[in-house]
Amino acid sequence: MAAQFIDLIWPAFLLLGIERVNIRTDGTQYPPLDFVYYPYSHSLLAVMIWAVLFAAVYFTIRRSRAGAMVLGLAVISHWLLDLIVHHPDLPLYPNLALPLGDSPLLGFAIWSSPIFEMGLELSIFALGVWLYLRTTKAIDAIGKWALWSLVAFLVTIHLGNTFGPPPPSITALAWVGQAQWLLVAWGYWVDKHRVQAMP
Ligand SMILES: [Zn+2]
Repeated sequence: MAAQFIDLIWPAFLLLGIERVNIRTDGTQYPPLDFVYYPYSHSLLAVMIWAVLFAAVYFTIRRSRAGAMVLGLAVISHWLLDLIVHHPDLPLYPNLALPLGDSPLLGFAIWSSPIFEMGLELSIFALGVWLYLRTTKAIDAIGKWALWSLVAFLVTIHLGNTFGPPPPSITALAWVGQAQWLLVAWGYWVDKHRVQAMP
């Protein structure tokens, strides 16, 4: 939830008309989306504020300083990983009437080499799954199969996003985006059926 937080709130901002994205149907860009305006979910300054809020809420509930710190950093990690793959569209700060002027837009654009990007993304995902397997163990059958079906589902979605047609509309894109909350719930379900196992 922390690592995916800014993508979890982005669809709501789209539906509210606060942020904007354009869908490209000419097949000239991967992914077929132009992130024209998303400073409240995806500017570095906003992400740092979300990270502090996320950590503060966690600390209030769980009273764990270390846990809050890790989750805050996980929120920020999303922006840094986006920075590697995105076309230059990530702002540093929202363009409010600041004396700073318009924010530069950043992105190292690994998305323009989709095959390489795919390899990189799947490798990071495999590393994450491996780390999770190494540090947790299933306490029942659900702990095993809920995890592996989630892994298979995530890979399937990723392949569908990569090779499938562009989304039919912004509204459809935003509602599919809202469905990411189900993945958070699925993650919690997996976690409930596994316990920590020190490697
Ligand atoms: Zn993102």
